[in-house]
Amino acid sequence: MTFSPRCYTCDQEARFGALPPREKIAFDDHWRVAHAIDTALPGWLVLVPRRHVTTVAALNDTEAFTLGLWQVRLSRALRETTACLKTYVAQFSERRGFGHVHFHIVPRASDLPREFRGPGVFGLLGRTGADAVPFDTMNELAAKLGDIL
Ligand SMILES: [Zn+2]
Repeated sequence: MTFSPRCYTCDQEARFGALPPREKIAFDDHWRVAHAIDTALPGWLVLVPRRHVTTVAALNDTEAFTLGLWQVRLSRALRETTACLKTYVAQFSERRGFGHVHFHIVPRASDLPREFRGPGVFGLLGRTGADAVPFDTMNELAAKLGDIL
């Protein structure tokens, strides 16, 4: 695997064996699934390629073929574990230190407040302290999702 320094995702990948459940909910040779950090929304997942890629156009064909399967499987698993109405799928990789391609797979609850629907859901990222999902909750969800996946 090739890693890039000063990349959050590559830093995590470099210590794969020591990662907590919330950072490796599921994985194969090409993709790893983690719970998003600093989010107020339990079940907000990120799907990351296991090598440093900063644009979707740089994914190889195998990564491209498996990407769709992962997105749909994760959406099904989130529906089963969170009873969400549907999932949002988005990819930007614009935040400093987070240029590594990552697909947000976000459970959209039927009662999600209107201001957080659509792109507004990103208002539930960047949360810290008591506003953020606790690591224990992320690890519990990781176990449930892992059983399904
Ligand atoms: Zn990276």
